[in-house]
Amino acid sequence: MRLTWRRVGRAEDRFEKWLAKQHQEAVLDSGVTAPGHCPDEAFLRDLAHKSSRVSLTDPRVHHAASCNKCLTLLKALREEIHSSREKLVLTLAAATCLVAVVALTVVNRSRVRQRSSEVSVTTVFETVNLWDASTLRGQQPGPLQSVSLPAGLVRVKIVLPRFSESGRYEVAVTRDQAGNAVQAHGIATAATDSEGREELSVDLDLRNAEKGPYFLSTTHEQDQASYYYPLEIK
Ligand SMILES: [Zn+2]
Repeated sequence: MRLTWRRVGRAEDRFEKWLAKQHQEAVLDSGVTAPGHCPDEAFLRDLAHKSSRVSLTDPRVHHAASCNKCLTLLKALREEIHSSREKLVLTLAAATCLVAVVALTVVNRSRVRQRSSEVSVTTVFETVNLWDASTLRGQQPGPLQSVSLPAGLVRVKIVLPRFSESGRYEVAVTRDQAGNAVQAHGIATAATDSEGREELSVDLDLRNAEKGPYFLSTTHEQDQASYYYPLEIK
């Protein structure tokens, strides 16, 4: 119902505009200046702004509507208002675009920052295979057993040497073979994998470790003997 009214309203509005335009063109074409004094520009400006200060019963309105000179000025003022409104709209649009660009930049930057902080705490997965490493106490491990780990948060899967027992192990990264200057350590339980090897998974925080040579040690909970393997932190 309301929609119908609005449609009728719009049609009437269009018709009135057309009628006003016809009238305006007729007056402008006629070149006739209406009798009496032309109102001052301030009044015409108010009229152009459709100001509520102007009463439609004001005789100056009647004059302006039928005066070639006044209508010409009124038309120019209307166009001026229209173009300044357009400029305002453009300025507002430009400002909105700028705000959007700034907002996007800020969002992107914070995303990048968030991503880089996520990266810095991302756990690196590494596998250390000691299956063929010697398990004899005191025996120097060969160069082939040397392993390397990155200086970060590392989840290391360790395949323990042949003949290792299952159970709880303490795993540590130390500076020397005497267990000094522990860089990181963790405790994990070794379990037999599908290939019959004992393996465990341990988290080592090597973020503060300097790059260089270290030792990876494994100590069985019950055995209490530590085995050291050369380790390089990259
Ligand atoms: Zn006039």
